[in-house]
Amino acid sequence: MTLSLVTDYTHGISAIDAQFHRPGRAAIHLIVENGKMALIDTGTTSSVSGVISVLKEKNLSVEDVDYIILTHIHLDHAGGASECMRCFPNAQLVVHPRGARHMADPEKLVTGAIAVYGETEFRRVYGEIHPIDKRRIVEAPDESRIELNGRPLLFIDTPGHARHHNCIFDEHSNAFFTGDTFGVSYRELDVNGMEFVFPTTTPVQFDPAAAHASLDRIMRYKPEYAFLTHYSRISHLHQHAENMHSLIDAHVEVARNAQSGLGSNDRFTTISCALQSLLLQRIREHGCRLSENDITALINSDIKLNTQGLEYWLDHTQ
Ligand SMILES: [Zn+2]
Repeated sequence: MTLSLVTDYTHGISAIDAQFHRPGRAAIHLIVENGKMALIDTGTTSSVSGVISVLKEKNLSVEDVDYIILTHIHLDHAGGASECMRCFPNAQLVVHPRGARHMADPEKLVTGAIAVYGETEFRRVYGEIHPIDKRRIVEAPDESRIELNGRPLLFIDTPGHARHHNCIFDEHSNAFFTGDTFGVSYRELDVNGMEFVFPTTTPVQFDPAAAHASLDRIMRYKPEYAFLTHYSRISHLHQHAENMHSLIDAHVEVARNAQSGLGSNDRFTTISCALQSLLLQRIREHGCRLSENDITALINSDIKLNTQGLEYWLDHTQ
């Protein structure tokens, strides 16, 4: 499957590939409303030139980007925020109240990311992250709204993956922009138009009870579509919500089993192997015929991050 840099949907919504590690891994969503624009999530600093080239192709002006909206401040979503603020001079940054101060002063965020990824990998992938002028930052608490050229966007506080996570409801398209709250779903795993979705339990704020509650809260709006950062539009949300509930529980069970386990492997290996077999089994049941190697290549780094997040959760809350 080849994925181009931009995928256009209805209601002025497009997904722009953030070119994060591989094509089809992370999306930056663009909403255009009568010439004015909002971006939802930013990829990393090096993703922003791709966004600008897409705007040029569409004859849109960088001056007409009104909002840079962050679902949350993990750096595959927010790493490009300071570069966006530099390139889109009239934009305001809209972020969860718990994330705002880290955008104005990113030092803690950078330190945290280095702890997860290591210094060399961090510098290679994320580059430089600069402080953002506080006067351009808008905090979006639960149930707040902004208007993009008259088009209302509603912010819902959705902890579970992270405590600084908002999902954004766009009533014009009856769709939610869900960041990582509704899990990840790679288009390569689609089978006859049906998607496969699984949770992301990345460090350091995974909270299973909150993750379940946030899914239920999203579903109460009866959205037709969800736009995931990893990767873009999915439908069949009712079915995916059920699978997500089941897989969140299965992740927790894997972690608890490893904690009380008698295996000879270290805990990281025990958890990551169990997640690998869990997801492989579910992906096979879903009907995917890719080779085990191809599937592993797609989900391997998610399994590592999920394992790290579950270990952190075990050590700090159990
Ligand atoms: Zn995240």
